[in-house]
Amino acid sequence: MINRFINYLKSIFTGSDKTSLKAMTNLILFGPPGSGKGTQAKHLMEKYNLLHISTGDLFRYEIGNKTELGLKAREYMDQGKLVPDEVTIGMLENKINANPEVAGYLLDGFPRTIPQCEALDAFMVSKDQTVSGLVALEVNDEEIVQRLLKRGETSGRPDDSNEEVIRKRIAVYNEETSPVYDYYKKQNKSHTVDGIGSEDEIFNRLSTTIDSLL
Ligand code: AMP
Repeated sequence: MINRFINYLKSIFTGSDKTSLKAMTNLILFGPPGSGKGTQAKHLMEKYNLLHISTGDLFRYEIGNKTELGLKAREYMDQGKLVPDEVTIGMLENKINANPEVAGYLLDGFPRTIPQCEALDAFMVSKDQTVSGLVALEVNDEEIVQRLLKRGETSGRPDDSNEEVIRKRIAVYNEETSPVYDYYKKQNKSHTVDGIGSEDEIFNRLSTTIDSLL
């Protein structure tokens, strides 16, 4: 009761209502490339009324517009490597800062390294926010290679059409990105969901897990 009153006083002086800011839902949709994050994110953003932020999509948008950032990112993406942290983190923060009036964020493809986790947590703290949870889609490597090669027939993505680049992306995921799961596990925020099955089945599994976090 006293805390709520103090928060209320703070909100008057700082101009921000910290109590309602805390109520945002900020989810990390995690998993290797081709695990179905993008497909499921489209359903989840509707169901939970979240802003879907895919750093891969943001980079592809920049590439399409031939911006300086896009040209820089492309060098790495075409080889299946990660774009440097400072570029990626800055872009993510700009996107969040440009969209403050939302119920929460659904992060897809970010964070992908431990420095990105640390930057995200610090950024959330600066906004009186937290990461609500991380949900990882589990799919084995061979299934991923087959899915990405198939996607490459229609996606038009250069990084989907070359098996060597696909295998590089999986190796980068296993080496640099999988520790992100353990990082949030230490905060009791990491959860796994079986990523094999129909779109509806996987959506239902994800929803059950996410509902348990809210
Ligand atoms: P995605 O669409 O998530 O598969 O990402 C495609 C490519 O964009 C990745 O292989 C990376 O080169 C780059 N990328 C996307 N998100 C990140 C990130 N968080 N950190 C570094 N590079 C990223």
